[in-house]
Formats: sequence, C-alpha cells, structure tokens
Amino acid sequence: MSEYPREPFLPRRRLIKLAGASLLLLVTPFGKAAVNRQPGVLAVRVWPAADYTRVTIELGAPLRFSHFTVRDPERLVVDLEGIEFSNVLESLSDKITVDDPNIKLLRAGRFKPGVVRLVMELKNEVRPQVFELPPVGNYGHRLVLDVYPLEPPDPLMQLLGKSKQIDDAGTRGNVTEVAKAEGKRSGREVVDRLVTITLDPGHGGEDPGAIGRGGSYEKNVTLAIAKRLKAKIDKEPNMRAVLTRDTDYFVPLAMRVQKARRIRSDLFVSIHADAFVRPDANGSSVFVLSETGASSSAARYLAQKENKADLIGGINLNVKDSALARTLLDLSQTATINDSLKLGKDVLRELGGINRLHKTSVEQAGFAVLKAPDIPSILIETAFISNPKEEKRLNENAYQNKMAEAIMAGIRRYFAKNPPLAKSRLARLD
Ligand SMILES: [Zn+2]
Repeated sequence: MSEYPREPFLPRRRLIKLAGASLLLLVTPFGKAAVNRQPGVLAVRVWPAADYTRVTIELGAPLRFSHFTVRDPERLVVDLEGIEFSNVLESLSDKITVDDPNIKLLRAGRFKPGVVRLVMELKNEVRPQVFELPPVGNYGHRLVLDVYPLEPPDPLMQLLGKSKQIDDAGTRGNVTEVAKAEGKRSGREVVDRLVTITLDPGHGGEDPGAIGRGGSYEKNVTLAIAKRLKAKIDKEPNMRAVLTRDTDYFVPLAMRVQKARRIRSDLFVSIHADAFVRPDANGSSVFVLSETGASSSAARYLAQKENKADLIGGINLNVKDSALARTLLDLSQTATINDSLKLGKDVLRELGGINRLHKTSVEQAGFAVLKAPDIPSILIETAFISNPKEEKRLNENAYQNKMAEAIMAGIRRYFAKNPPLAKSRLARLD
C-alpha cells in the first residue's frame, strides 16, 4: 500500500498565513527574518475543563517570560518580555467563559516598557504550569499556561455518581470489586459484576486531529460518537462507560491510559477518524498494540501520526510523572494484547455491517494510547474524514448513532464469549 505519509490537512487559516509569508519573502530579500522573528501575540486560545484549563498564547517568536502566584484572592501572574500590548491581548478577557471551572478572569496590560503582564484570577487554588512549546505541525511558538485545580475531579467518583441505581454500588470498593461469583471459565473465576469501559475520544483542544475538506475536525466527530456510545453502554444493566474527555480539551496520551487504569476499566476503546491525501481513501479499521513491530507500514505510519498528538496537543516535557512511567514496567502485556485482538475482531466484524472495511483484519502497531498493560485496548478509525462522503456521514446524527451501535454490538459480542473475570487487585486510588 502506498497510503502514507498520512498527515493532517492544513487548516485554511494557516494556509492564508503561509501564503502571506511567502509573498513578503518575494518583496524583501531578508523577508523571512522580518516575518518569522516578529515578536508578538498572534492568537490566544482557551480550553476550559474540569481537569485543568489551558490558555495557549501563540507567538511570532519565542520570548522571555516569568510567572508567580498570589493568594487571597488566588491569582496567576505572567510577565511577557519583549512585546508591546496589542489588540489580541486587549480581547483576552472575552475569551474566558463564565462556566470555566478554574479561571474567573483574565486580563493583560502594559506593565512597563517592553513587558506585558497577564493576570489570571482563579476560582480555586491551583497548581500552575507555564511552559513553551516549539513549533510543530501548523503551530508556531506557543506559550502554555495550564492551571490544575489542587483537588482534581476523581474519575472513580464520577463513575459512582453514574451508578447509583446499582444496588451494591454504595461504596467505592463495591463499584469495581466483585459482586458474586457465578462460575468458572478455563480455571478462572467468572463473575457477575459491574463492567467498566473507558471511551477515549481522540485528540481535543489544541490538537484538532485530522481536518476534513468540508472543515470538520476529527476531535469533534470522535467526541460526538463517544458520547453516543457512552449513552448506549450506560443503558446496559451491568455496564458503565467513562470518557477520558467530555469536552473540547487536550488529554495527554499517557493520561488517557492512566484514567482507564485508575477506575480499573475492563476495556479501553479509543475513537478516531482516519485521513489521507487522496480523497477517495475510505472505510473503517481497527488497531491494537504491537510489541514486536507494526503489522504493515501503513499501520506504523498511522501509529506515528496518532502518537504526535502529545506534541500538537502540547505536554510539558519537564514534568516526569512516576505513575505514568510505572505502567511501562508491567509484563502482562502479551495476554492483554490477545484479548485486545479478540475485542478488535468482534468490533471490526460489526463495523463491516455498516461501512466498507478499509482493512479486513485487525492491524497492530505501537500506539501510545493502547499501552495499558492490563486492559484490553483497541483504536477504531471509524471512517475517513478526508473522504468528502465519509466526512458528511461522520457529521450526521443517524450515522454517528449507527457507528456507536456497531461498536456496542462488538463489545457485547466480545463479552458473550469472554465473560468478565474476578478482579485480583484493588482499584488504584493513587
Ligand atoms: Zn486520530
């Protein structure tokens, strides 16, 4: 197959900017330096979420910055050096919505010559992270202001809140622990208990994922389908679904895995939409992790593309999370991959009932988001958002519903053959 490299399409906004830049290059011999080294704020984007709120400041060139926090009332102050106050900064306060879980107000002003001061008024005590991101994909230099609430939302409590109707779900332990033993399967205990499924809508926030020719973003389509699937799972008597993100913000890949592990998910299903330079590429495909190399070069390129999400979405590489590092040391991966393949086959079979299959077998590659060592995990490329026909369908309520129903049917088929087993370890509450 020659269906790579698979690169997201350039958003129109960026194409115009690039066209402008080359035009300047034509009229001034040193135009490139003049255009690219221009300090100044090009855009400000805000991604509010319960987990954290991110403010991204896109810059014409990297700049010096410093930050500090002030108590009573809680504030984050960031000084940007070497720039002057601009229109973009003036409109900063309009970008904060009243329902932002973390930020009350954001304003900017000229602090002293050449220094602009941003003041963020906060709704609660936060742990701020202020860091730069180098240019990547369609983005230039970015300065990122992340504010994490000191008391983050607990996914286990979120799950509990949704399972009140279940008799034995009165305490934390009961939700993910065994209800009662029912029988044996290949020597292992089969149980009747609440099954939890983590649904992972791909991309989000700064990372739009692939962009269709009609202008739809993969991140929006994946969220819509995941929400529909969640509703279907929650209707099942013994199943509950948790989303890795329920709004438009970026969740780092390893964090998606960690969210699934914290609630001891039985399954992890990552939902995406494919893209290719040729508009006629079409169909659905399903992927699982490979420990030994990709099953095809197309699968390898796709995994590389999906793994770029952290660079585009933006993570602070200076922060090393020991909990995330630990997940790599687990040795139970092979057994998990076998279960992932079974789940993948069942889902692929159902997808074949509603769409052409891009690949008729489950493919394998090194997807970072599928690396939970103890949770069967699949990544579904629902359809090609780069194909105008499939892009249109991906945006239709009826088709999103059909897609969710097909995935649901695949999950049911999997559990019919592989009933949930007793869980041997306690939920990770760290
Ligand atoms: Zn994707």
